[in-house]
Amino acid sequence: MPARKSAERFPEHTVLTDLFSRTISYLRLSLTDRCNLRCIYCRPDGGEQEKLGHADMLTYEELLRVVRAAVSLGMNKLRLTGGEPLVRKGIMDFARQLGEIKGLRDIRITTNGVLLEQYAEGLRAAGINKINISLDTLKPERFAQITGADCFQQVWRGIEQARAAGFSPVKLNMVVMRGVNDDELADFACLSRDTNLHVRFIEFMPIGSRSRWNRDTYLCSDQIKQRISHLGKLIPVPRSETDGPASMFRVGSDAKGKLGFISPISHHFCDRCNRLRLTSEGRLRACLLHDAETDLRAVLRQDGCTDEEIRETLLAVVRSKPQGHRMEERLREQEGGCHGRMSRIGG
Ligand code: SAM
Repeated sequence: MPARKSAERFPEHTVLTDLFSRTISYLRLSLTDRCNLRCIYCRPDGGEQEKLGHADMLTYEELLRVVRAAVSLGMNKLRLTGGEPLVRKGIMDFARQLGEIKGLRDIRITTNGVLLEQYAEGLRAAGINKINISLDTLKPERFAQITGADCFQQVWRGIEQARAAGFSPVKLNMVVMRGVNDDELADFACLSRDTNLHVRFIEFMPIGSRSRWNRDTYLCSDQIKQRISHLGKLIPVPRSETDGPASMFRVGSDAKGKLGFISPISHHFCDRCNRLRLTSEGRLRACLLHDAETDLRAVLRQDGCTDEEIRETLLAVVRSKPQGHRMEERLREQEGGCHGRMSRIGG
């Protein structure tokens, strides 16, 4: 039987579902493993990790092919991450080209904010519609200790610039680590009450072979809620499409912003997971907390690789997506966390 044309096999408005009936609509691209910060959870010894060579990373042309293939399968949401996505040269042109892909209705970025003062407006103009900024402390000195760089004020100006550029809401993500920044939970919660910034507390995850994660540094969302209970009752906010896996609240009825809890370990959201990840070396990863990866770069770089082959690879990975990460159970059974590097996976 002659091969059917790809347009027939993958008609427009396809919805991509996995073996557990989850719709897979969201692709996260780690654009580079390089970063201008040295955060303690990504680089536990503060030193340099082995970097990918330029040829190891997917080119922008390759990334665009993958995104177009994913969109043709029904994926419509994309996040740029890293490493630090804004350190990759040419990102603005790339963002503009993404903005022109029909069917891609939602393009987001996660950044540490260091270069945001300079890039926020351009990102918005290019069609990036949502921004998450990682910020683990409101104390400049502590910021330098956590990230290895004394640039809290620069990040704060980046946050202001993102608001001025029209990103709304601007979301701040704080990874909560006991003994590192857990004394600032109330300050962050109040920030979400007193300004229109949305703050999300993220449970620290056991990722990376030399991660600092252990039962002592980890605080679950219920403990975090307990720690801010003196601020009054948290008022639940109905989940909106932009909230992702976070459960959202307001700190009091007059709160200007929202406060979210992302609980990948204690209240995992695997049953709603709609994601695929592409690491900075071009490996597809079906689950953040499972190390299984498929080498899409090898497929892309085969002579005469067709779009159909890219789609088949994406489909195969979707079909291999595990039902859940079972991390709580794995930790209980001392199986350990996962070994992938966050800077290559992108979070
Ligand atoms: N450089 C960008 C940034 O800082 O947002 C994007 C990459 S960073 C790896 C993506 C997110 O992963 C950040 O919010 C970071 O705090 C978070 N992250 C890294 N390691 C983590 C861990 N072990 N547990 C939870 N979140 C983690």
